[in-house]
Amino acid sequence: MGVILCGRHGRSGITGTCIHVHTAIQNKESIKTIRLRMKFDGAKFELIHWVCPICDGLYKDITSEDEFSVFLTSMKACCGGCFDEWMQFDNKDIY
Ligand SMILES: [Zn+2]
Ligand SMILES: [Zn+2]
Repeated sequence: MGVILCGRHGRSGITGTCIHVHTAIQNKESIKTIRLRMKFDGAKFELIHWVCPICDGLYKDITSEDEFSVFLTSMKACCGGCFDEWMQFDNKDIY
């Protein structure tokens, strides 16, 4: 897990999100349904990202490591503090 420099929270842990969740956090918009996706690469590290329903649909179509790599390049690094605040912004359905 890396560190990101946030204008509001200083040095914060990175939370991985899709571009739509990232934009919603920036604009303080609501996304009602959000899903947590997790990928383990052996025992070395775990990669966690939060995705909107659109990206969740794309995720489900992934059938290979290559497709997963492409999917990951569309993910954004978000400040963990901003993400936590956004999560408390309204009630979200998490799967
Ligand atoms: Zn998305
Ligand atoms: Zn922040």
